[in-house]
Amino acid sequence: MKRIVILGAGESGAGAAVLAQKEGFDVFVSDMSLIKDKYKKLMDDHNIEWEEGHHTEEKILNADEIIKSPGIPKEAPIIQKLIKQGTHIISEIEFAGRYTKSKMVCITGSNGKTTTTSLIYHIFKEAGYDVGLAGNIGKSLALQVAEEPHEYYIIELSSFQLDNMYNFHANIAILLNITPDHLDRYDNKFENYADAKMRIIQNQTQEDSFIYWNDDPVIKKELEKFEIKSIACPFSEIKEKGAIGYIEDGMYKLEYPVPFNMEQEELSLTGKHNIYNSLAAGLATNIAGIKKEIIKKSLGNFPGVEHRLEKVCDVAGVHYVNDSKATNVDACWYALESMKTPTILIIGGKDKGNDYSQIFDLVKKKCKGIVYLGADNKKLHDNFDNLGIPTRDTHSMADCVKACYEMAKPGDTVLLSPCCASFDLFKNMEDRGEQFKSLVRSL
Ligand code: ADP
Repeated sequence: MKRIVILGAGESGAGAAVLAQKEGFDVFVSDMSLIKDKYKKLMDDHNIEWEEGHHTEEKILNADEIIKSPGIPKEAPIIQKLIKQGTHIISEIEFAGRYTKSKMVCITGSNGKTTTTSLIYHIFKEAGYDVGLAGNIGKSLALQVAEEPHEYYIIELSSFQLDNMYNFHANIAILLNITPDHLDRYDNKFENYADAKMRIIQNQTQEDSFIYWNDDPVIKKELEKFEIKSIACPFSEIKEKGAIGYIEDGMYKLEYPVPFNMEQEELSLTGKHNIYNSLAAGLATNIAGIKKEIIKKSLGNFPGVEHRLEKVCDVAGVHYVNDSKATNVDACWYALESMKTPTILIIGGKDKGNDYSQIFDLVKKKCKGIVYLGADNKKLHDNFDNLGIPTRDTHSMADCVKACYEMAKPGDTVLLSPCCASFDLFKNMEDRGEQFKSLVRSL
């Protein structure tokens, strides 16, 4: 009996263990950290042997194959030992892909993965397809393949997942953009990270499709290195040579496979970045054969993704928006760019060496007030105090929401798009967004 060892028992590891057990392997799971109770229970229910808090080498190094959690870097000592002795290391997605013939729609990119994946899933659901959501969101692909198989899977893939994928095959692959991220895991070489993203098209055939953002100079450069065997489906902000999805005269247009038009105004997701996400999602679902009436309706009624330009509610004529996921200046730029009414911007948190000058022009154009929210707001004072816009200084979400309420007039928008990580005052960005929403709703 072949032995499979799974390193890391989170969503993907625990799911892979269940599938491996079902497929008749000798399975062992090892996690350096503590394992969440729900995953212990899942493994116990399937009689899977596991350990936590350490790695027992003799139970790992004798594996025929390793399934590695994407969170474990290749520099980890146990991984180095396995590489040295030549043990094959794969990802959970690669493993699950061996046991299903379902169609795979895979989404990667530096920004916009969760939004685009959720939007595509929404359109498939609205069309009544038998579809599962997997990868970085939802249940692991392996667990679904083992216990509740679907005809289609919509899979969000990070570069770390792509790293250990070899034979996996995406029927529809989407590459949204490539900007520097996680370089510490790629020997500080941007090219290595960009190459990892291109693995999304490996094993594609001429029956498959590759949807990508045509305006991205990094993708353009990468495409000179890699041969595309599948049908190339580039999208762009404007109609240009080669693009089969674009915006023209306020219309959202797809040329392929079924020509499709709708008013840009009718798209439920707002902001320039979301035009790209909506184009990618429209192309993917059009290629999957979903009727254009359903695509149109679903692009218009998508409720959005929590903490990403999420509409909270209106209070006294003021519109409140939660964009807590905007943990860098670039993301805030896109949020501000999409604002249509005078905005009170909430900004601050744990600064990651931010250069705020990127948003000065937009702040001057769109904002009538700024509320600082952080343990230490000094850098914000230094950057924004002299833009000639009223500011308020706060150190808790309760004070921040109160300040916004006092500053805003009917017709204004209050936007939480902090440019910073949340760890100075909150557990994480979800906690920050949830506190904001709950205080706003009780105003
Ligand atoms: P990811 O899952 O890749 O982190 P999300 O969908 O969670 O991406 O979006 C994170 C943030 O990235 C959003 O708040 C938004 O500001 C920005 N963003 C989303 N889509 C794009 C895009 N296509 N291009 C650039 N930035 C984007």
